[in-house]
Amino acid sequence: MDRFETHEHDVLVIGAGGAGLRAAIEAAAEGARVGLICKSLLGKAHTVMAEGGVAAALGNIYPEDNWRVHFRDTMRGGKMLNNWRMAMLHAQEAPDRVKELEGWGALFDRTKDGRILQRDFAGHRYARLAHVGDRTGLEMIRTLQQHGVALGFDVFMECTVTRLLKDGDRISGACGYWRESGRFVVFRAKAVILATGGIGKAYKVTSNSWEYTGDGQALAYHAGADLIDMECVQFHPTGMVWPLSVRGILVTEAVRGEGGILRNSAGERFMFRYVPELFRADTADTEAEADRWYTDKKNNRRPPELLPRDEVARAIVAEVKAGRGSPHGGVFLDIATRRDPEFIRRKLPSMYHQFKELADVDITKQPMEVGPTCHYIMGGVRVDADTAAATVPGLFAAGEVAGGLHGSNRLGGNSLSDLLVFGRRAGLAAAGYAKRLPRAPAVAEGEVERLAREMLAPLERSTGESPYAIQEALQEAMEANVGIVRTEDELRKGLEAIEEFKQRLRQVKAVGTRQYNPGWHTALDLWSLLTVSEAIIRGALERKESRGGHTRLDYPKADPQFGKVNVVVRKEGDRMTVAREPLPEMPRELQALFEGDK
Ligand SMILES: Cc1cc2nc3c(=O)[nH]c(=O)nc-3n(C[C@H](O)[C@H](O)[C@H](O)COP(=O)(O)OP(=O)(O)OC[C@H]3O[C@@H](n4cnc5c(N)ncnc54)[C@H](O)[C@@H]3O)c2cc1C
Repeated sequence: MDRFETHEHDVLVIGAGGAGLRAAIEAAAEGARVGLICKSLLGKAHTVMAEGGVAAALGNIYPEDNWRVHFRDTMRGGKMLNNWRMAMLHAQEAPDRVKELEGWGALFDRTKDGRILQRDFAGHRYARLAHVGDRTGLEMIRTLQQHGVALGFDVFMECTVTRLLKDGDRISGACGYWRESGRFVVFRAKAVILATGGIGKAYKVTSNSWEYTGDGQALAYHAGADLIDMECVQFHPTGMVWPLSVRGILVTEAVRGEGGILRNSAGERFMFRYVPELFRADTADTEAEADRWYTDKKNNRRPPELLPRDEVARAIVAEVKAGRGSPHGGVFLDIATRRDPEFIRRKLPSMYHQFKELADVDITKQPMEVGPTCHYIMGGVRVDADTAAATVPGLFAAGEVAGGLHGSNRLGGNSLSDLLVFGRRAGLAAAGYAKRLPRAPAVAEGEVERLAREMLAPLERSTGESPYAIQEALQEAMEANVGIVRTEDELRKGLEAIEEFKQRLRQVKAVGTRQYNPGWHTALDLWSLLTVSEAIIRGALERKESRGGHTRLDYPKADPQFGKVNVVVRKEGDRMTVAREPLPEMPRELQALFEGDK
């Protein structure tokens, strides 16, 4: 072990986005010695990219909003596949977490009388998203970082964790490498919190950045933890479709929340034709009513553009397939004819600059071209609702890497509140667990040596395939076979492709040395990407129904039996197994909130 740089903590947090920072803050406040690791620079996590806002039933704009309404919206948005207790805790605690953030210095946009302003977002009954223009994530990260740094925990930047370590059944730490030097590093810890975010880079068109290779889900799976509902991947309806070099970059839902509408090539406001039964009673059926809603929510119903993301994404795909798409294969998102330029620039400054700089489109004068982009994974590490504990002792997970809260489809704004609520709970529980542990679990020397040899193999082969070729082929295969709409045949093709990529990975060759070598990093990332891709496909094959983010053309309806089960993926020996296991049952008093739903 002496030959490896080694650090020791009570609680090790892997990932420094909103979930990781909030967890680290809580664990440090509990007196734990905390280490926080991130793949890139501190502050560059996905959270910083969040634009629209953080959902919390503060009731500042609509006093009739409360946790029950938020809970109901979240469950209906997730098509009732959500873990009810997570959804309840989330709705109950989000307001306090947002106010706490404000207390730590976050400067949200304000109402005229000085309270936190809240904006409309799809699937939320009331204006609920606290925001800072369209740069909410930046303010959130800035505040958490500033607060956390003052508490004092060790930060390890540009360090990638590649495996979790165990002492018998228990987690005992993690190991990885410094991205710059390529040298290995070992972290001994009593408890580990995964806060590594999503899997977007398994797909070709995604709003996610290079960091989101599903590392946390893969680390947990290979350490023996359960993953649930991995088939539930969210394709955000509005990503940029043009120019090709920026395809997939997000166009925030706030554009629609602030009045933007979707049109097809015939100029038709097509969303009125795609209102599902479940949402019909709450959705306007004329353009006039939909437009009135922005200023008079009490007497009018919501525009269909603000249906949950899965509904809008499927409608866009249907329009494009029917030949009514925009020139570059999307549809038009128009705010220019609906709001004045000053309002657009003030409310959506990042969107204004994004389109001006990347596409030479002035969104105050012209419509945007948009289409679905892989955005978020609802499935993930199975956790206990109260403690965020995974199914392996000593392992915790919070934020996008964890499954359960969002069911089969996440509502916009519910991720940032998820990070705060369950980041805090994970930090608290992990610190408590570490305190109760009589001694630090052991790290087996031989195990680290073995992992180091495995990681170096791509550099040591004299010949072999480029990791980039495998990565590109994987992204193509996932996009083509496991995208927004799925069939048994395509999923089987996808699975065959994964098996082939696994073989090819055994022969991968990274050119160069260990010093800052993106090719080698990509070769190592493939281990995670292939694991999560396989889990998504196996889950999608098992769930023979359509629900939220998971659409099967061969099973186009939601099946009530599948609505009662999580699809659980776990490692048995070297095999990935799949099982259906019952969802926790919701208590009667909460069930009453859904009476009358079809
Ligand atoms: C463009 C965009 C806009 C969005 N807008 C909103 C919004 O308005 N509202 C909302 O609620 N949600 C929004 N989302 C979703 C939301 O931002 C994310 O779901 C959320 O930020 C995830 O936070 P997290 O803390 O779980 O992970 P992240 O913020 O993704 O952080 C992950 C961390 O893990 C680290 N990491 C990953 N792998 C490793 C590894 N192997 N070793 C070490 N470190 C690792 C990364 O470096 C990073 O520090 C948006 C997402 C995108 C992409």
